[in-house]
Amino acid sequence: MPVIQASFYRFANINNTIRIRQDAIYARVSDLLEGAPDDVLHAIAHILLAKLYRREIDPGCAARYRKYVSSHAMAAKAHLIRNMRGRKHLNGARGHVYDLHEIFDSLNQRFFHGLLGRPEMTWSREHARNSLGHYDPAHNTIVVSRIFDRPQVPRYAVEYLVYHEMLHLKHPVKLRGSRRCVHPKSFQEEEKLFPELEAAKAYLKRL
Ligand SMILES: [Zn+2]
Repeated sequence: MPVIQASFYRFANINNTIRIRQDAIYARVSDLLEGAPDDVLHAIAHILLAKLYRREIDPGCAARYRKYVSSHAMAAKAHLIRNMRGRKHLNGARGHVYDLHEIFDSLNQRFFHGLLGRPEMTWSREHARNSLGHYDPAHNTIVVSRIFDRPQVPRYAVEYLVYHEMLHLKHPVKLRGSRRCVHPKSFQEEEKLFPELEAAKAYLKRL
């Protein structure tokens, strides 16, 4: 049985991580979850360990965690933190065709064990072609260009843009000497897990 070091950590959003190094397990749980009821913390511990050992996640635990994170209390806390960090004008996540919240939630379940905290999400105000999508860590916001909110745009293209920005959320920019490493190797490897990667890239090129 390895030594377990668990602590609350000040992530920019609701995030939980786990890794194993030389017989010790390090778990970090978002400080937004400090004070969560025991059964919720138990569920988080279960999900993290299942993830670490590639075991199946108990659906009860997954539901308990999801329910708590989307609860009113958590929303109020996240809102408070956002207000402290300053606000930015947002246009909303629900577009005419695609709902960015719904896309985030489904990708979160498919690729991140439901562990990523949802940042603010919004369609851009303009039909921007120079910036298709970006993640702004200062405001913990994912912005997607409104040109993708059209019925002729395949869902996998929007999913790919959101998935890419979710990877930015998961892999913060690293400094290598004086160079900023925006898409480190671990980022690129994980991006390849997206099934329609090639089709999505080809679609974006044709825009
Ligand atoms: Zn990027």
